[in-house]
Amino acid sequence: MNLHAHITDTKTGETRVHHFQDDSPSLVEFDWGENNNACDCNRSLHFSRAGGGDGWSELRECGNERYVVRILNDAGETVYEDSRD
Ligand SMILES: [Zn+2]
Repeated sequence: MNLHAHITDTKTGETRVHHFQDDSPSLVEFDWGENNNACDCNRSLHFSRAGGGDGWSELRECGNERYVVRILNDAGETVYEDSRD
């Protein structure tokens, strides 16, 4: 299915949308909640490319505070959202 990751830079307030495909909601949850895409470094690559950049020129340090992510499907339903606790 088509997925749309709304990635917000908490420092600037800017949100960009990274489009990708995945057929497994549980894998999406794992990847963005715990695995590679849970980290600010990988999120910064998607954020940069979503704005037409090459990724690396906007690479951010590893962490879990710079970006907030919510992923929607084509129907506008939330497939994944960062927990805020
Ligand atoms: Zn990292």
